[in-house]
Amino acid sequence: MQRIGILTSGGDSPGMNAAIRAVVRKAIYHGLEVIGIKRGFNGFIEGDMEPMRLGSVADIIHRGGTILHTARSEQFKTPAGRAKAWENVERFGLEGLVVIGGDGSFTGASIFHREYGLPVVGIPGTIDNDISGTDYSIGFDTAVNTAVDAINKIRDTATSHERTFIVEVMGRDTGFIAVAAGLAGGAESILIPEHPFSIEEVCHKLCKGYRRGKLHSIIVVAEGAGSGLEIGKQIKERTGFDTKVTILGHLQRGGTPTAFDRILASQLGARAVELLMQGATSKMVGMSAGKIVETNLDLVLGQKKTVDLDVYRLASILAI
Ligand code: ATP
Repeated sequence: MQRIGILTSGGDSPGMNAAIRAVVRKAIYHGLEVIGIKRGFNGFIEGDMEPMRLGSVADIIHRGGTILHTARSEQFKTPAGRAKAWENVERFGLEGLVVIGGDGSFTGASIFHREYGLPVVGIPGTIDNDISGTDYSIGFDTAVNTAVDAINKIRDTATSHERTFIVEVMGRDTGFIAVAAGLAGGAESILIPEHPFSIEEVCHKLCKGYRRGKLHSIIVVAEGAGSGLEIGKQIKERTGFDTKVTILGHLQRGGTPTAFDRILASQLGARAVELLMQGATSKMVGMSAGKIVETNLDLVLGQKKTVDLDVYRLASILAI
């Protein structure tokens, strides 16, 4: 193997740059050439690709976002779009591809591998942490720390004014960020898509807390569990408490990656290159129980990962 391609796809996440750096440097260390593909599968189709050198990835380990840029490409979902991408594989002489992204990006990579036989290795990069085959995806730890930082600040003002605060965090289908940030931030309630809840129950808990002298309450809501604004309105109507809503939104996607995310990204990036050199054809690298592991992409895509409900229950017990 002499030349590999690398792209970032789907939503960006802090630490993607550290992963790009690891792939480029590890590959060059072993004498491979690396072609950077811009704007995800869009750049793959359009041939927006260029060689990456050691200096191309200098000074990026601490930066959020992705220097390769990312995109969602409808064209890559069509056979015609993928045929154009294949022309560029041949034009640039790629013998393997590293895809950093979420499960949508891995679906595209897996289909492309099945159709054209190009070896692909996925690196999980999404703040949602909803990818099977890894305990953590790159960006999750940074996003949780950003959310906890926000909760800390909100807690200060909540205590001063004796208010109830709703903090809506990202997580379309899963409550990973909500559970981790809720536990670390000492939230009174955490609302996630994986666990049913009733507003009556949330209000009951709030009232109980205030009766025993709590000065404030923080409720963390995963966006997939419902709208923070709507839940705040319902709580105010039922309890009469002054209820404020903060939607963290894209704040959670940005920022300098934590040391954890940089270390994870460096290890996963390096392993991805090793796998391609060893002849892997369709894999994802991940971390399981502290070890770097690999899983067949099809297995990753066939399984749904959900939050650890024991951790969710623990957060509830500790907020009694
Ligand atoms: P995130 O978790 O941040 O949303 P993701 O990788 O899951 O990241 P998606 O928008 O679902 O993000 O997918 C990214 C891109 O992967 C799509 O825009 C498309 O180009 C490609 N892709 C997704 N599904 C398919 C598919 N079935 N066939 C071909 N390509 C696909």
